[in-house]
Amino acid sequence: MKYTDTRDKGISTDFRTAVMSGMNPISGGLYIPCEFPKLSKTFIDRSPEPSFREVAFEMARPYVEGEISNSDLEAIIQDAYPFIAQVVPIDPVTYVLELFHGPTCAFKDFGARFMARVMSYFNRTENSNLHILVATSGDTGSAVGSAFYGVPGIDVTILFPDGKISPLQEKQLSTFDGNVRALRVKGTFDDCQKLVKTAFTDSDLREKLRLSSANSINIARLLPQSFYYMYSSLVVRNRIPHDSKIENPAIITIVPSGNFGNLTSGLIAREMGAPIDGFVAATNSNHTVPDWISTGKYTPRPSIATLSNAMDVGAPSNYERISYMYTLDEVRSLFASYWTDDSGTLTAINKCNEKTGYIIDPHGAVAWSAWNEIRNGGMEKLLNGESTNDLNTPGLTKNIPTWANKVVSKNAVGIVLETAHPAKFGSTVAKAIGREPSMPNRLEKVLSLPDKAIPLENNYDNFKEWLIGNL
Ligand SMILES: *Cc1c(COP(=O)(O)O)cnc(C)c1O
Repeated sequence: MKYTDTRDKGISTDFRTAVMSGMNPISGGLYIPCEFPKLSKTFIDRSPEPSFREVAFEMARPYVEGEISNSDLEAIIQDAYPFIAQVVPIDPVTYVLELFHGPTCAFKDFGARFMARVMSYFNRTENSNLHILVATSGDTGSAVGSAFYGVPGIDVTILFPDGKISPLQEKQLSTFDGNVRALRVKGTFDDCQKLVKTAFTDSDLREKLRLSSANSINIARLLPQSFYYMYSSLVVRNRIPHDSKIENPAIITIVPSGNFGNLTSGLIAREMGAPIDGFVAATNSNHTVPDWISTGKYTPRPSIATLSNAMDVGAPSNYERISYMYTLDEVRSLFASYWTDDSGTLTAINKCNEKTGYIIDPHGAVAWSAWNEIRNGGMEKLLNGESTNDLNTPGLTKNIPTWANKVVSKNAVGIVLETAHPAKFGSTVAKAIGREPSMPNRLEKVLSLPDKAIPLENNYDNFKEWLIGNL
């Protein structure tokens, strides 16, 4: 597979280069495959559906062809995924796709663990360490730290905004030792991201250190996230005749989004033949993308702190890939978009629990809230022209996707992505439903470890000095 660049279509490079450099240091653009090959119809239509790992292997193959052999790829996938994505029906037309069964209890384990193994595979032939810089607004850091922990030849530095992630999240990324370190930055997530981006374009630093990224901008994180979209859409398609009597419903995937890496992976799965009819871009008060879909104008802005803090992104990186892959009209025909604020998030956690018994986390709750509104009159209102287009009020934005009629005629099912375990946000969940969800063992353990994070001013020169002095 050849990879090109969102800012320079003249670029054509291989998987190894795209993965190891993370982004193109010259153009500042993001790597993207030149094509998204469709899986065979026989594979997609198999009944019962193929296993998660089979799907992962078939989907990854074209992107690594000629660079990673089939047997090495199989080993990477076996090692990366001792857990799977779980499809849980919560009402006749709603499935929750639980993406928190990995070691850090969040969906980023899917991308980070694949990327870590691919990088370590490519680094075998190098004789110096690869240094990974990652800015996190929440779960990226722990997923990346955990994925790389103990991997030979690779160091990881995690930057996180001081006081803007949950205490448990901070523990999860600050308690590593050895090849993984955390920096507590006096600033926002966007500041952390800017420090990292500046380091990547600093040619003086790059002469001293081999740098790579691990944010959702790395294509080796984006591609594996497409596996669970394919897998879940096949599972759901096979389950529908048993769960509801709807014939050939539209399958809509609702994605709680921040940097839009997860949603971009969904687009890749659809390109490769996943039976997904549409998407809902669901955000918290950081509604840059819903506003873009609604008005056609893309206006990045500073991030706002919310209860779903892993989605607090005002300038989502993957906007660049989405707008490279699709025109605005195509986006509008494929997507509904929705945002809600903190009070809407708490209400959603409560209502979801009351209606279905399911305990959803604040990120998944944003998505559940979107689907709840869409299928209970929200889309109908839009179709009837009864919606006000006030960008400052939470709700569906005024955009009518091609699948809108199918929802209104009760001919659609939704897959709500649940991106984190609710116990990671126990106090928020307790505020909404009056009790904390029980904590999985792997989370409980980390709470007793010492916090080793190093404080850092929001200043590039300090950051550079620290990197050079400490690595
Ligand atoms: C990172 C994250 C998101 C947002 O995913 P993006 O790919 O940045 O859109 C949503 N929920 C949780 C729990 C996350 O950690």
